[in-house]
Amino acid sequence: MIIIKSDKEINLMREAGKIVAYAHQVVRENIRPGISTAELDKIAEDIIRKHGAIPAFKGYGGFPATICSSVNDQVVHGIPSRDVILKDGDIISVDIGALKDGFYGDSAKTHPVGKVSDEATKLIEVTRDSFYEGLKFCKVGYRLSDISNAIQKYAEANNFGVVRDYVGHGIGTQMHEDPQIPNYGPPGKGPRLVKGMVIAVEPMINLGTHEVETLNDGWTVVTLDRKLSAHYEHTIAITEEEPILLTKL
Ligand code: MG
Ligand code: MG
Repeated sequence: MIIIKSDKEINLMREAGKIVAYAHQVVRENIRPGISTAELDKIAEDIIRKHGAIPAFKGYGGFPATICSSVNDQVVHGIPSRDVILKDGDIISVDIGALKDGFYGDSAKTHPVGKVSDEATKLIEVTRDSFYEGLKFCKVGYRLSDISNAIQKYAEANNFGVVRDYVGHGIGTQMHEDPQIPNYGPPGKGPRLVKGMVIAVEPMINLGTHEVETLNDGWTVVTLDRKLSAHYEHTIAITEEEPILLTKL
């Protein structure tokens, strides 16, 4: 069941979203060769708690940390570690969620570490831009899969693989609500978008094959061909006018 949010609830969701956005900003400022993903995790957790919010991923299904830090061929759900030290030329996807006043915010970004290859730069840009292609359809009257189709078309026009096994989602008082939002598929399917829907759209785009597998830690999802992967996500409120990115400062 899709839960529609009132204007008042969406305003509350802005607060969670802003904290997620701010945590992203500070994490980004600290990404450099030599820092560990555990240190980035600590930075994000401190910011979220300082603003009176709760890290949404910590303890979710047993996940042990505040951020998901997915380096290079890791797609999503990488576990921060003191042993994972970022190197020049890496890329890192950071996914952050926070709970504030009963509502969640959820957002992910991929960043270069130092100087990265041209193909890594392009992957990061196309992943971000595929999100904004999907965002064009985050308007009243379109159907859910219009978003999915726009993302897929853009990513595949750039010869990248679109991850199938993980999808976007509704979000509110639960981090994952209905509906599921795949990043692929034909247009014109699924429910029509209405004012008050709040959704997390999150393309996960691979340099090579779209196929992925999970490592033995039970969490870390990697590309099957071990080529690079990038992730971009915002929490979006559907309105009568333009969509609102709740996780943007
Ligand atoms: Mg996320
Ligand atoms: Mg999400």
